[in-house]
Amino acid sequence: MDDLFDESKPMGYDEFCAAAWKLKQRYKSMQCFSIGKSVLGRGITTFIIGTGNPPLLYVGAHHALEYLTSMALVKFAGELCEHQESGEKLCGRNVNSILSHRSVYIVPMLNPDGVELHLKGSSSAGALRERLNRIADGDFSGWQANARGVDLNHNYNAGFKTLRRMEIESGITGPATRQFGGYRPESEPETHALCNLCRRMLFRRAYAFHSQGEEIYWEYGDRTPKNSYDIAKALAKSCGYKISQPEGLASHGGFKDWYISVFARPGFTVEIGSGKNPLPPTDFEAVYEKLRNLLVLGLTI
Ligand SMILES: [Zn+2]
Repeated sequence: MDDLFDESKPMGYDEFCAAAWKLKQRYKSMQCFSIGKSVLGRGITTFIIGTGNPPLLYVGAHHALEYLTSMALVKFAGELCEHQESGEKLCGRNVNSILSHRSVYIVPMLNPDGVELHLKGSSSAGALRERLNRIADGDFSGWQANARGVDLNHNYNAGFKTLRRMEIESGITGPATRQFGGYRPESEPETHALCNLCRRMLFRRAYAFHSQGEEIYWEYGDRTPKNSYDIAKALAKSCGYKISQPEGLASHGGFKDWYISVFARPGFTVEIGSGKNPLPPTDFEAVYEKLRNLLVLGLTI
């Protein structure tokens, strides 16, 4: 499946769309649709693989610098489809049989505008170019937010007021390259689209992929299910990651926080790879080799 995209380069939105197109052409069993549009009108493409119930959710690239998560989820979608068709095992598991009683919704790139801003600068931002140049001071090398300067993983309705207060105390009062959660929860089209998908599908588990740290976060408040810790432990063991507790500005407003507090079902943040964001594409192969075990286990656990 190495021909889906060039693994030696960062995956931008165009490369992602081209890979999605190839997958769609190659595997008729895979469904591909858009759950909504980003601020700048880019489609938030989603794959559905498998026909069974209950459905699961894998989502990548909440943050612009974390496009390695998109690369991993696209590659995984390709491998799943390939092994589903051939009947061969993936990480020792018969995915064909798994996917007859499960389905997985994969949203590889929730924040396409942010990824493009980081990779191509404000020329990718159309009418918002000047405004974004002012927010970033012309430097998009550390850009994590969407095209309104909102950090999508601070924009969910879970401890939002507490997080907003913490942001202001840290000097983050308005649109910024990172860590500004917006003026109200779910204000951004990207987070709203993902929340709507969750409300519609009632996923059994939700996994949000970020980078970096090789760690798994599993807890949020008193609605965290009892089995979440054991699941996190098994996931961590599968790929040699560790289990962690969030601190400071990462403690509220995140997708997994919202998912757990609304649905009382297991939700996880998985921080892939280790080093400094953006992790270089030269890390991709080694990161993916480890992560594949977790991605397969996540379908069954
Ligand atoms: Zn992140």
